[in-house]
Amino acid sequence: MNYTDKIWNDIRRAAALLREARHAVALTGAGSSTPSGIPDFRTPGSGLWERTDPMEVVSVYAFRQNPQAFFDWMRPLVKMMLAAEPNAGHRALAEMEDGGWLKAVITQNIDDLHQRAGSREVLELHGHMREATCIRCYKVLPTDELLRDLIDSGKPPCCPDCGGVIKPNVVLFGEQLPVAAVNAAMGHIRQADLMLVAGSSLKVMPASHLPVLVHEQSGRLIVVNLSSTYIDDIADVVIRADIVEVLPLIARICAEG
Ligand SMILES: [Zn+2]
Repeated sequence: MNYTDKIWNDIRRAAALLREARHAVALTGAGSSTPSGIPDFRTPGSGLWERTDPMEVVSVYAFRQNPQAFFDWMRPLVKMMLAAEPNAGHRALAEMEDGGWLKAVITQNIDDLHQRAGSREVLELHGHMREATCIRCYKVLPTDELLRDLIDSGKPPCCPDCGGVIKPNVVLFGEQLPVAAVNAAMGHIRQADLMLVAGSSLKVMPASHLPVLVHEQSGRLIVVNLSSTYIDDIADVVIRADIVEVLPLIARICAEG
C-alpha cells in the first residue's frame, strides 16, 4: 500500500491502543458494507432515495398503508444484500474479536455481513433481515425463502397463518430501535475503554452519539473512515482511508504484537 509515514504511524498506533484496551468495541455503519456492493442508501447518488421520499415509503406508517410500495423499494436492496459477500474489513473485525482485542461490534447495518465474516458479538441497532414479523398476528418467520420469493415475484410476502403482510425485522422511520440490541450495546459501551469507528460518518442518531459516551468516560477513539466525522477532533487516531485496506493491517499488527 502506498501510504504516507503518517498513515503507517496511525495504523501502528491504532493497533497498539487496541492491544492495550481492556474492553474495545467497534461501531460500524454503511461505509463498512459499501465495499461489499451495498450502497449507502442515505448517500445522494446511490439511487435508492432518488425517486422516493423515504418518509412516504420506508416509515412504519407508510408500510401499513402501502406495503407494495415498501417492497418495491426494498426489492433491489434485498437483491444486493443476498448477493453481497463479507469484505476484508468485516473479516479483520472478526479476527480482532478472535484475538481478544475486540469485545463486540455495534452496527447500523442490517445485512448480516459481520456475522457471515465470523463476528460473534454483533449488536444490530437497526435490526436485521433474517426474520420478519406478521403485522396482524405477530408471528415471527425466517426470511430466507420469503426474500427470494420477493425478488422473483415482487409481491409482498404474506403470513402463512393469517395472510397478513409480514415486515422484515428492520427498523423503519418512526419505529423504536430493538430494545435487546440497544441494551446489550449499552452494556458494552459502559465498559468500553476504546471505540473503533469503522465505516461510519456518524450522521445517524442515536449510534452517532455512542463514541461521545466512550470519550466521556475517558475511553480512546479510533476513526477509520473515508470522510471526516464530527468526532475527528477528539479522536486519538483518525485514519482517512478505506476500511478494507486499513482494518486488515491493524488486525495483522495486533496479531504480530
Ligand atoms: Zn399472521
